[in-house]
Amino acid sequence: MGFVGPGRNKLVDDLGIKTEPSGAISRDARNMTSIPGIFVAGDMTHGASLVVRAMRDGRRAAEGIAAYLKK
Ligand SMILES: Cc1cc2nc3c(=O)[nH]c(=O)nc-3n(C[C@H](O)[C@H](O)[C@H](O)COP(=O)(O)OP(=O)(O)OC[C@H]3O[C@@H](n4cnc5c(N)ncnc54)[C@H](O)[C@@H]3O)c2cc1C
Repeated sequence: MGFVGPGRNKLVDDLGIKTEPSGAISRDARNMTSIPGIFVAGDMTHGASLVVRAMRDGRRAAEGIAAYLKK
């Protein structure tokens, strides 16, 4: 179903990735989750939204991943 926000997710639970009270995946300014090297973008991190927002978010996550890998 769309527009209901992120649901419970076994991968997120198993890895212990930090989430917001809404269920959205927490992230830093470069879209990295609470687990170093794991990034998130799109509806999983800000809830149901628009395609253009998910695209912009994906680009930001890609930049975050590139910066992380260059370290
Ligand atoms: C009915 C509906 C109408 C909408 N209409 C509009 C609109 O008119 N305009 C607009 O801008 N936005 C609209 N949206 C919102 C838009 O579709 C979303 O904001 C956007 O698709 C979010 O992109 P995303 O990449 O975050 O997630 P998604 O597009 O949901 O992509 C996530 C992908 O991950 C895959 N996936 C999930 N779990 C796994 C797994 N374990 N392993 C591998 N792959 C997995 C899924 O199959 C899916 O392909 C609409 C949404 C819905 C539900």
